[in-house]
Amino acid sequence: MEKLEQLYEGKAKKVFATENPDLVIVSYKDDATAFDGQKKGIISGKGAINNRMTNFLMQKLEKQGVPTHFVEELNDRETVVRKVSIVPLEVIVRNLSAGHFASRYGVEEGIVFEEPVVEFSYKNDDLHDPLLNDDHAVALKLATREEIAVIKQMALKVNELLKGILLECGVTLVDFKLEFGKTSDGKLVLADEISPDTCRFWDAKTGEKLDKDRFRRDLGNVEEAYIEMRRRLLGE
Ligand code: C5P
Repeated sequence: MEKLEQLYEGKAKKVFATENPDLVIVSYKDDATAFDGQKKGIISGKGAINNRMTNFLMQKLEKQGVPTHFVEELNDRETVVRKVSIVPLEVIVRNLSAGHFASRYGVEEGIVFEEPVVEFSYKNDDLHDPLLNDDHAVALKLATREEIAVIKQMALKVNELLKGILLECGVTLVDFKLEFGKTSDGKLVLADEISPDTCRFWDAKTGEKLDKDRFRRDLGNVEEAYIEMRRRLLGE
C-alpha cells in the first residue's frame, strides 16, 4: 500500500491518503499533549506502543461484533484504516471516578460506580471540548438521535469487552474516550485509538497508574508505564 499526501496532522497522529479513496494510513507519533494542548512533551516509543495496542484491541472488538475502522497493520507505527468522517463527539465511559469527573463534581478518585457513566464532549479545540448532552448534540446536528443511541450502545459494549480483557491482565479500566466515524456508505464504526493516551489503566492490586496521567501529573516512569501495558496486553 503506497503512502500518498498527508491529509491531516493531529496531536498524536498523522493521516495520509492512499491510492484507494476509501482507505487512509494512520501514523502514530511520540508527541504527547495534555490540558488542552498547554502541556507538551515526547513519550519515547509511545507511537509504536499505541499503534500495536489499538490494533490488538480493535481486532478483539471486531471479533465480538463491534465494527471498527481497522484494516491492516503496516509496520510498528503505521496502520491502514477505513476512511471515515469523524462524528465530532468525544464519547467518554467511566467505571470509577477520576480526572475531570472527580474535579468537576468535587469527589475523590477511585469511587466504583454501580453502572458505567457515558458522557459526551463536543470535539472542538476552539471551544475546549465542552461537555454536552444528547439534546445538545442533536440540536447542534452533530449526530442524529438514532446515531447517538447506536453510539452509546456500542460504547457500553466496548466497555464490557475491554474491562474483561484488561482484568485478565491485572488492570482496572477506570475510564476511556472513544471516537466514532461514518464510512462512505454511512456505517458507524469505532475509529481513533484505544491506548494509554485515551484510557485510564490502574493496576488492579496496587492502584498504580499505567497511563498518560503519569505524564499529565509528572508522576515519573511515563515510558515505563506504556511499556508495562504493552507487556501485559501483548506479551511483548
Ligand atoms: O479528563 P477526563 O477525566 O474527562 O478524561 C476521561 C478519559 O477520557 C480519560 O481516560 C482520558 O484519557 C480520556 N480523554 C481523551 N482525550 C480527551 C479527553 C479525555 O483521551 N480529549
